[in-house]
Amino acid sequence: MNHLDVALQAADGCSHSQQLTSDWLQAAGIDLRVLDKLRHAGGGCDCETLANLDYGGRGTCTNNG
Ligand SMILES: [Zn+2]
Repeated sequence: MNHLDVALQAADGCSHSQQLTSDWLQAAGIDLRVLDKLRHAGGGCDCETLANLDYGGRGTCTNNG
């Protein structure tokens, strides 16, 4: 469980954007250029970033509709 996990649950799922990740990085004082690196690593949206962090693998967005 981490902040992004909590934020995703609070938002009732992924909005297929990096908005929550962006908020999380800003709150943690982390350079937002990290978003680009996450995207290249397969974390194109919040849930995929979370999957990468948790499992070290490429995530599969469950909210592609
Ligand atoms: Zn997603």
